[in-house]
Amino acid sequence: MKPFYYATMTFGCQMSESDAEHFAGQLEQLGGTRAASWEEADVVVMNTCCVRESAEKKIFGKIGELKKWKLDKPERILCITGCLAEKDGEKLLKRAPHIDLVLGTQQIPAFGSLLREFADNRLKRTITGEAVAAGDDCVDQAARRSDVTAWVPIMHGCNNFCTYCIVPYVRGREKSRPQSDILAEVRQAVQDGYKEIYLLGQNVNSYGKDRGEEQAFAALLAAVDQVAGVERIRFMTSHPRDMTEEVLRVIANGRHLSKQIHLPVQSGSTSMLKRMNRGYTREDYLALIAKVRQYLPTATLTTDIIVGFPGETEEEFADTMSLVREVQFDMSYIFLYSKRSGTPAAAFENQLPLEEKKRRFQALNGLQSEISLQLNRQMLGQLLPVLVEGPSKNDQRVLTGRTDGNKLVLWPDTGRHKVGDLAKIRITKAQTWLLKGQEADDDKPELYANDGAIQEH
Ligand code: SAH
Ligand code: SF4
Repeated sequence: MKPFYYATMTFGCQMSESDAEHFAGQLEQLGGTRAASWEEADVVVMNTCCVRESAEKKIFGKIGELKKWKLDKPERILCITGCLAEKDGEKLLKRAPHIDLVLGTQQIPAFGSLLREFADNRLKRTITGEAVAAGDDCVDQAARRSDVTAWVPIMHGCNNFCTYCIVPYVRGREKSRPQSDILAEVRQAVQDGYKEIYLLGQNVNSYGKDRGEEQAFAALLAAVDQVAGVERIRFMTSHPRDMTEEVLRVIANGRHLSKQIHLPVQSGSTSMLKRMNRGYTREDYLALIAKVRQYLPTATLTTDIIVGFPGETEEEFADTMSLVREVQFDMSYIFLYSKRSGTPAAAFENQLPLEEKKRRFQALNGLQSEISLQLNRQMLGQLLPVLVEGPSKNDQRVLTGRTDGNKLVLWPDTGRHKVGDLAKIRITKAQTWLLKGQEADDDKPELYANDGAIQEH
């Protein structure tokens, strides 16, 4: 293809972010340069999500916005990829004829060839389902967007079929990448200067099972931890049913494995968990949390929760509130249940009215905010290594970064640190969703611990 400008847009989870980097990698091999904004691009790849209706609405809004861009210069190319493309396929082209290509979730390796073909023949296409063979136009590799974090998918798909969730239908069955491929990608990322490796999968704890391997995730973590030059290793998402003690042990003994666990509970009620097909009870989950605390007493714990699942009673919701109170999560990502047609829960009786879902959201969010603030306040005065991510979007004089536990920290830039450095930051202010601090002049944490002079402003 002759040189062109491209833009990618991403909706949804980190896996979707990572997929968009793979589209960008192939676009660059085809002669593309990232445009300053999508308005200036010749090719736009919109990588979509369909996990909740709200995501779909946003995407349809954006597709509408792109109509003028496309009609102004019909030689421009609009390609819709990702989960919504897989789910709606041809319907997208019918609904918005200014789209050129609709490519489902299995078409990432063939993306470059399909795009080049379209540039040559201008034949609109929809390809969902099984992967089509990739030509030799380019290789499938990521053009990473972050300067610090390298997203590394370790597996694709999901076998769990939680009754509310569309993911297994649009992403297919679990397929793990061989450990050697993952390690090669990690080594390359480190060579390219990335400090943080984020391993991605819908259910990382079942990594390797489709290849007949047991405990493969624990072994993978240990192996990534051995790669010279890796500063931090994170992963998501863990399914509580498949989380093993071996994984916790490896993290506890690790050198660069962050003590941060995202363990989506979805509900604190055993009867609800059963209707959700999660495969564990409230008691199982609490026992697992006790294990996490035993191996990793300082770990940051986060979770996902759905409120207003069909038939959720006041008692069941109260069980979720009490579980959140009991576990004391650092953060909960709370979602209003969204009906996804084709999933079992869409046909369940007693769908709750939106008003009720919102009321429960407010109650739970209020509780979680109090807990988050309280836990963040306990960090006041601590001196922590923070991985510098770059200047704040709102204020160039302020740097942002993350603690080992993945908490966001903001502090005045002194010019001493650059992106990717581990800065020592003294926490001086705690807010609900973030911490503020100052660079420490020395590394004597005892000077600051329990320093009565440090007050919350
Ligand atoms: N594989 C991951 C998460 C995938 S989706 C896991 O199992 O944890 C991310 C989150 O979206 C889920 O944890 C769930 O809380 C939420 N979610 C999924 N389907 C949903 C739906 N239909 N309505 C509302 N939230 C949903
Ligand atoms: Fe969806 Fe459940 Fe699979 Fe997560 S584990 S992606 S919530 S089906």
